[in-house]
Amino acid sequence: MTQSVLVLPGDGIGPEIVAQAKRVLEHLQQHHGLDVTLEEALVGGAAIDSTGIPLPEETLQKAKCADAVLLGAVGGPKWEALDISIRPEKALLGLRSQLELFANLRPAVLYPQLAEASSLKAELVAGLDILIIRELTGGIYFGQPRGVSEVNGEKVGVNTYVYSESEIRRIAHAGFKAAQKRNKRLCSVDKANVLEVTELWRDVVTEVGKEYPDVELSHMYVDNAAMQLIREPKQFDVIVTGNMFGDILSDAAAMLTGSIGMLPSASLDANGKGMYEPIHGSAPDIAGGGVANPLATILSVAMMLRFSLQRADLAEQVEKAVGVVLDQGYRTADIAAGNESVNTQAMGDAVIAALK
Ligand code: NAD
Repeated sequence: MTQSVLVLPGDGIGPEIVAQAKRVLEHLQQHHGLDVTLEEALVGGAAIDSTGIPLPEETLQKAKCADAVLLGAVGGPKWEALDISIRPEKALLGLRSQLELFANLRPAVLYPQLAEASSLKAELVAGLDILIIRELTGGIYFGQPRGVSEVNGEKVGVNTYVYSESEIRRIAHAGFKAAQKRNKRLCSVDKANVLEVTELWRDVVTEVGKEYPDVELSHMYVDNAAMQLIREPKQFDVIVTGNMFGDILSDAAAMLTGSIGMLPSASLDANGKGMYEPIHGSAPDIAGGGVANPLATILSVAMMLRFSLQRADLAEQVEKAVGVVLDQGYRTADIAAGNESVNTQAMGDAVIAALK
């Protein structure tokens, strides 16, 4: 059955990197039997410029109908003065919550060819391959009450860290299932010594774990997890954690691989539908120059092929092609360590050539 992919280029380098990822999808359509339709829509600052809001109803409806969404990046200085409620980044939260994309998968894989790019010693990160699963639609980023108000003559800010049992259970299942497909080790990260909400988190994850006797479950406090990620990152296989802890830890893990331009992500609902995007932003400092690294977006296509389009075979081919171009010495400026580099289009060309 033909599946549909909605492409949301967004802002800054978004359109430049998405163009290359789209070429990869089109190549797979034409030469590898990938049966998908591709459609584009506006999101973020591009949508604000044209419609006044970051997530137009038309885009949201198209995203709801699609089997998968490929997003570039949103945001930039042009829209920073707008009220926070209509800034480009609001589109991301809107898409995540409206599509119920509760599981954010962020692999942090170090390509051996890029070992020198990591800020840690090569021996600590060589062969690094960990997966962080962050709960994406609950926790303190969404809890009520929230806001800043006047209390006893001074301003007081409040956010609420809240998780229901069912929210914890579904992300725990996602964690155990992912671990089953990897090295069968799951570390649940919480702050159960201080926060009651994460005490519940720990209890529910432990209970769900009884359904996965083949997965070794461990628990870690978030402060220790932050330290262990820097001290000995290879001890982890899969980490599952809440929205805010996951936000912070996954950025730290990403940087262990030395290059933000290489890392993809998937945000999934309960039925395998997903939104796929590089973990980096719109990089206004290099936007328009045609020099951005498209590999994180191309690797996001690989995740899409695996998790939403049921074409793990093609996902492997795309990942292999990325390895081949790195072996061949192709580097965009961010991973060139000052040596000769190619532009965004040439990197796209090289990946497509490696797929042939
Ligand atoms: P950023 O990730 O855009 O850029 C950080 C640094 O990494 C910059 O020096 C940039 O040039 C570089 N970089 C990022 N992606 C690159 C790539 N593919 N190739 C080469 N270099 C790359 O983060 P920022 O500067 O903090 O944010 C810029 C804008 O992006 C802000 O408006 C922010 O809100 C937005 N943002 C959007 C998303 C998203 O759309 N998911 C995520 C993070 C930030």
